[in-house]
This record gives sequence, structure tokens and C-alpha cells, in this order.
Amino acid sequence: MSDRVDAVVIGAGVIGSSVALELSRSGRSVVVVDKGPAAGAGSTSSSSSIIRFSYSTLDSVLTAWEAAAIWVDWGGHLGCVDPDGMARFVKTGMCIFNTPGDNTVRVQRLWDELGIAYEVVGAERLQQLLPGMDLGAYFPPKRIDDPAFADDPHATLTAILETESGFMDDPMLCAKNLAYAARQHGAQFRFHQQVVGIDRADGRVAGVTLAGGERIEAPVVVNVGGPHSGAINRLAGVAEGMRIGHRPLRQEVFTVESPAGLRLEDGMPALADLDVGQYLRPQIGGTWLVGGTEPECDELHWVDDPDHYDEYPTVEQFEVSMMRVARRVPEFGVPHRPVGLAALYDVSDDWVPLYDKSDLPGYYMACGTSGNQFKNAPLAGQFITAIIDAEAAGSDHDLAPVQFTGARTGRTINLGAFSRRRDKSLTSGTVMG
Ligand SMILES: Cc1cc2nc3c(=O)[nH]c(=O)nc-3n(C[C@H](O)[C@H](O)[C@H](O)COP(=O)(O)OP(=O)(O)OC[C@H]3O[C@@H](n4cnc5c(N)ncnc54)[C@H](O)[C@@H]3O)c2cc1C
Repeated sequence: MSDRVDAVVIGAGVIGSSVALELSRSGRSVVVVDKGPAAGAGSTSSSSSIIRFSYSTLDSVLTAWEAAAIWVDWGGHLGCVDPDGMARFVKTGMCIFNTPGDNTVRVQRLWDELGIAYEVVGAERLQQLLPGMDLGAYFPPKRIDDPAFADDPHATLTAILETESGFMDDPMLCAKNLAYAARQHGAQFRFHQQVVGIDRADGRVAGVTLAGGERIEAPVVVNVGGPHSGAINRLAGVAEGMRIGHRPLRQEVFTVESPAGLRLEDGMPALADLDVGQYLRPQIGGTWLVGGTEPECDELHWVDDPDHYDEYPTVEQFEVSMMRVARRVPEFGVPHRPVGLAALYDVSDDWVPLYDKSDLPGYYMACGTSGNQFKNAPLAGQFITAIIDAEAAGSDHDLAPVQFTGARTGRTINLGAFSRRRDKSLTSGTVMG
């Protein structure tokens, strides 16, 4: 293998593999280095892989809406069929309960602007949609040791519903599919190899140094290290030039048996239930994924070292999550022991990702993905490539942010919205974005 290439991508998760595909499609020679065993084996493998468009800013909604069309035409996007199997999009729709202080009013305004169809759902229709659920409004979310947890509802919930959302059935396979497609364009993947140094020469990036001492020279290096990307940015010495920070946050997701009438096969939509502080996502096999939406009462577990954190769900969070499910579904049989996972988000200060250059010429980043960017992986690769192309053509993305035209809508996405130097975006301040 040559030790000099056009671009090194650090990380072979769903976003790193997408960056590799788009850079190799652009005619560049690409090496992807990953310290793990396979594409998608990092935080991507734990993803709930929900594809939705309910964000607080125009550029984020537009990005997710554009990316959604790509997941639906996954084979068309890849331009090949991975012989090891192809991931599939499963359409469920998405129901979002209206809760005080949430972003649903803004979301509706943005959907109106972009022509994304949705339904305003009143109490009666909501009960038909979610049979057997207790649709009382209990906001704000509470821990189970709070005596108010058992309070009666103070109102009845309403919601917004759109029908185009869904999920990818196997997040790790999505990364593998992207890596396979990238290989068809010549990209090389090197696993079990850790980047320990970002090399510089003449005031710009010159490549990377691996744990064994080997160096790979390249005029372009892209940091897509997921929860490790903050540490990699510090290695590169670029963190000081960023106005938006990012750091790992530990999260737990549980798997439970779907209650009767609320299975995927019954037409159960994915559900954002900020009223009790969690999301539910039906899946194949008669189960739900249950994840948190960072309600104020839940402590956030920031992690200093992403190589050392408790990878197992805690009994405490399991009990809270299960009681919140039981609050919503009175017939729910609370399981005896946790089935689920703990994994890391790489959370930015405003829960909006960083798709950007850096103060070190030639060094780029796709990080700060904040638990909500799986869905945008196909576009993230195109965004980074567009920024690299623009810089190569002599433009300065900091001064004249790249404007990206979406293939689905023909509308412009301002990539300055994902800049490390932006003012904090006005968002929900949670995984909902
Ligand atoms: C529990 C959970 C649920 C989520 N649910 C959703 C969802 O429903 N919808 C949604 O849109 N998003 C969701 N997300 C977010 C989404 O899954 C992530 O944003 C996305 O998978 C991140 O991909 P990535 O390629 O950036 O990072 P990763 O998949 O983490 O890949 C980073 C790679 O970098 C490698 N690496 C790190 N450091 C080094 C180094 N020094 N040298 C070499 N390699 C290195 C790692 O081994 C790893 O393979 C969720 C995330 C989690 C954790």
C-alpha cells in the first residue's frame, strides 16, 4: 500500500464511510484508518437509526429531508449491491407529542416552508393511532422517586404526525455498505490501526501517524472519529480555534417487547414523547427501542475518556425508562432485567453537527453529531467533499460558506450552519436537535 494518498479519513463509522465514498467518487485516492475491527463497529453500531426531519432550523430540516430520499433509494445511492447484504429503509412515520417549550411549532413552520406534509392530530385520532396508550399529559418528565410521578394527567395530548419517517434496519450494515461502495472507487480501509498523531509541515496538515509508528502522508485529513473526535481535534491542535465545543455523552437504549396493537406490523409510528422524556421506535421482531430525550430531571453523563465508560445499562435508568413506558402503556409488562446498551453521542454545544474545515489547512472534521446525525450520513460525505473541493479551488469556507444544492428539492443548504465558528443555533438543546 502506498503511504502517500490524496486523503486520509479517520474513522469508518457510517459518516466516515460516507466521507470515504464521496471523496473516492471525486477521483481522490483515500485511506480510511479505524482502530476498531470493522466499518460501523463504533457508535454507529448502537444507533437507533431513526430517519426523521423534525429539527429546529431550516438547514437541519432540509438536510434530513434530502438525506431521507437517499435512504429510500439506498442501492441507487451506492451504485452497487454489497454481496454481504444491503440495509433496508423501513417506513413507520413519526408522531411527535406536543409538549410545553418543545420545537413543534417551529418544525411545522419549516415543514410548511419546505412542503413536507404532516397532520395535526387531535386527541381522538391520536387514540386510534396509538391504541391502548394513556394519552394524558404528564409534563414535565419526572424520575420515579419524585412523588409527582404518580400524579394524574393535567390535560390530554395532541401531536403532529408525518408519514415519511422510518428507520434503517441495521445501522452497522449501512456503514459496511458505504465502505463496500467506497472500495469500488478505490478507497482502502485499514482496521485495528489507531491514529496517534496528526502531522504538520509548512503550516498545513501533512498526514497521520499510526500507533505502530507508520506514517501516511496526505494533504487532506478528515476527522470522523465519532465520540473520539474531540481527542483527535486536540491531537491536531485545532480545538482552540472552535467556537462550538463537543464532547462524549453516555446514553442508554433499552429493548422491550412491543405491547399488543403497537407493533411495527400494526402500523406503530416512531414516537417522540417529550411529555415523559423518551422516544419509542418499533422494530422488526415485535420489539421497541426506548431511548431518552434528555429531560431536565435526568442527569447528563458526560464522559472524559471515550475508551473508558460503563458499556452496560444501569438498573437505575432501566427502572426509570420502564416506568415511563408503563406510564404511557398501562398494560405494559415491565421486564425483570434490562436488555439494552449504553453508548456514546458526540454532543456539540447546540446539538447541531460540525461539518467543517479547521484552522489547520487541509484538516477537516465531521463530528459533534449529537446523537442525531445517522440520518444525515449520506449528505455529510457530500458536504465534506464540497467543502474540500471549494477550498482546493481557492475559496475560503470560513469567509464564503459553501452553498450546497439538494438533489431532492433543488434548494440551497448553507453549510456555514455547521461551522465550528457559528453562533450557537437556537435548538431544543436535546437529541431532537
Ligand atoms: C445510542 C445511539 C442512538 C442513536 N440514534 C440515532 C437515531 O435514531 N437517528 C440518528 O440520526 N442518529 C442517531 N444516533 C447518532 C448516530 O448514530 C451517530 O451520529 C453516527 O453513527 C456517528 O457516526 P460516525 O461515523 O461519526 O462515528 P462512529 O460510528 O463512532 O465511528 C467513529 C470511528 O472512529 C474510530 N476511531 C476513533 N478514534 C480513532 C483513532 N484515533 N484512530 C483510528 N480510528 C479511530 C472508531 O473506532 C470508530 O469506528 C445515535 C447514536 C447513539 C450512540
